[in-house]
Amino acid sequence: MMPELIDIKSLKLNEIEDLIVSFGEPKYRAKQVFKWLHKGVHGFDEMTDISKNLRERLLQNCYISSAVIEKKLKSRYDDTIKYLFKLIDGEYVEAVLMSYHHGWSMCISSQVGCKMGCTFCATGRGGFVRNLTASEMLSQITEAQLDNNIRISNIVLMGMGEPLDNFDNVIRFLELLSDKDGVCIGQRHVSVSTCGIVDRINQLAEMKPQFTLSVSLHAPNDDIRSLTMPINNRWGVDTLLAACKKYAASTGRRVSYEYALISGVNDSDECALELASKLRGSLSHVNLIPVNNVEESGCMPPSKQRIAAFQKILCDRGVTATVRRTLGSDINASCGQLRRKSLDT
Ligand code: SAH
Ligand code: SF4
Repeated sequence: MMPELIDIKSLKLNEIEDLIVSFGEPKYRAKQVFKWLHKGVHGFDEMTDISKNLRERLLQNCYISSAVIEKKLKSRYDDTIKYLFKLIDGEYVEAVLMSYHHGWSMCISSQVGCKMGCTFCATGRGGFVRNLTASEMLSQITEAQLDNNIRISNIVLMGMGEPLDNFDNVIRFLELLSDKDGVCIGQRHVSVSTCGIVDRINQLAEMKPQFTLSVSLHAPNDDIRSLTMPINNRWGVDTLLAACKKYAASTGRRVSYEYALISGVNDSDECALELASKLRGSLSHVNLIPVNNVEESGCMPPSKQRIAAFQKILCDRGVTATVRRTLGSDINASCGQLRRKSLDT
């Protein structure tokens, strides 16, 4: 039987060192290989300062995972670009590159599809296929950097998939991402968004990471949250908020709460008051997002006035809340609009 090839772009520097030493080559070669991988080379033959012998050994034992740009859509309204990437097994994921005054930010996917089934989300409606490897998460970034000849400075794990349901690969990806010899984006420039996998949030609280935790709350109580988010039947709102507060206390970082406003569902004054009473006094920030229309979901955003009134109730009670600017809405690049194969938008 053929031995399985090693996904070398998912390996940390010390792991590549072990591999190279096992080939009888000097350890320092590993850093050269690592740098090439994170620059985004597609083949070992592009590693021009590596001996032909070592390139041959690498080719026999390893592969460089890829995310090939299958399609690219540019917004007419802003600099947003939505990418459709084809993975090595023919599956697809989407990612979105956005330009802000402070630099380029990219929203990447962590899974093909998602198991969580939130009713307002296009990804959730498509079902789950598989986890992405650390290298597949990295490749979305290295491809976009090469494609535009830019350096990306901020990453949000808010594309397709539930990052905390792919915990080990996501943690590995974040370690690789911050390596100074690689893409070099530190955790302070990363946000990880979760629908609320409480046991993983508790685990993170102990690990004390430096990234921003974004929690998709979307409702102040179980009655409303359970209507749209099946995960709420496992861990209710109060259990989730207790874990988030523990996370904030242990890391010293404020938790960001995502709240997609859906007309007639979670946008009443009562909801705002209940939310304010539950978040008041904790290290938090609320991101209000007018829900993006996803086919068949039947979810509509509230009026501008309703959104402003909701925000005011929170702010008046000392809970900071901002309304998120929507980028790339003409190319279905906004939250919850990413699908496995949206070639038609
Ligand atoms: N699975 C993770 C991260 C990916 S979803 C999570 O749920 O947090 C990224 C964000 O988009 C989440 O806050 C999610 O709740 C939100 N979202 C999904 N569908 C949306 C929609 N139709 N309109 C606005 N936000 C949506
Ligand atoms: Fe999955 Fe997040 Fe979409 Fe829910 S909102 S289905 S957790 S991707």
